[in-house]
Amino acid sequence: MQSPPASLRLRIDRAALTGNWRALDAMSGTARAGAAVKADAYGLGVRHAVPILRDAGACDFFVAHWCEVAAVLDHVPPVQLAVLHGPITAEDAAFAHATGVRPVINSVQQARLWLGAGGGACDLMVDTGINRLGLPPAQLGEPDIARLQVHTLHSHLASADEDSVQNRQQRALFAQVASTRTAACRALANSAGIALGRDYAFDMTRPGIGLYGGVPRAELADSIRQVAFPQVRTMQVRQLQAGDRVGYGGVFVAPHAMRVATVALGYADGYLRSWGGTGRLQAGAEQLPLLGRVSMDMVVVDLSAAPDLGPGDWLDVPYNLPAAAQAGGLSQYELLTLLGPRLERLVTE
Ligand SMILES: *Cc1c(COP(=O)(O)O)cnc(C)c1O
Repeated sequence: MQSPPASLRLRIDRAALTGNWRALDAMSGTARAGAAVKADAYGLGVRHAVPILRDAGACDFFVAHWCEVAAVLDHVPPVQLAVLHGPITAEDAAFAHATGVRPVINSVQQARLWLGAGGGACDLMVDTGINRLGLPPAQLGEPDIARLQVHTLHSHLASADEDSVQNRQQRALFAQVASTRTAACRALANSAGIALGRDYAFDMTRPGIGLYGGVPRAELADSIRQVAFPQVRTMQVRQLQAGDRVGYGGVFVAPHAMRVATVALGYADGYLRSWGGTGRLQAGAEQLPLLGRVSMDMVVVDLSAAPDLGPGDWLDVPYNLPAAAQAGGLSQYELLTLLGPRLERLVTE
């Protein structure tokens, strides 16, 4: 028997996701925009986001882990997918070879694993200053690197969301590396990097957060629209008397009689306990402040502004990413990727 529709959902706005990819692609100038779809498309769900991005025009997809490959291959051919972490074990390299998905080679060690598995087209990530993952430029001359069949030469910006001299330094070093190690395609910019200007775009860009409604730089604010809208159903409505306490620890004490609602959203869904003091839900434009602690599966909100609301009615969780990041003390990236599996992902037109 099929489960009934969930009481907690993440509405995904197809037009906004399509529009964001097209905007970032246009801003990439003569370069084409790919799409970072790691971490289940930043929490939106690969099975929803990838077909929309593909239909919008994206041809180059990126995940981090090999375990993320299968879900993407349900929607795009293997030549359109690359795995950023590269092969960490011989099994990874064999899997890449068997599926035809390109590994992003990040070190001489990874180059050897790939060549040992039979080699073929791969990507190469060169570290130009993030010192996280990627081949140090000094090792470009290593024989096993020289033997690679490089499809796309990548590097990754460390500070693209800031006005840092590091951006120009990384751009210059990448241009220099690309002139010595030629590849069919060169890619440097993430979402924020696209906003740094056309000279950061090279042949391909790799936006992630901007696709999903994140605004990592102010220059993108007018082009990026919210994509993911969490919504939750009211379960129960009750009348409190002055002095009644709400939730664990009874930390909220009603100052006067008030009507409140218990809704089906908790920290197990990514709605952090630390938001209990300041968080609010919305009924249309009306603000409903949270009362007391966030529980694992529910929160209680003040219904003063929405007297007609009853059990089964839907509330919105404010999730405009730049605003929510400011209000909740988390990054826009964390806000998306922490949303739990109990939110039913639902694409709307
Ligand atoms: C995640 C990731 C991206 C996308 O970055 P955003 O800041 O989300 O646009 C691009 N490139 C690499 C290497 C990444 O790991």
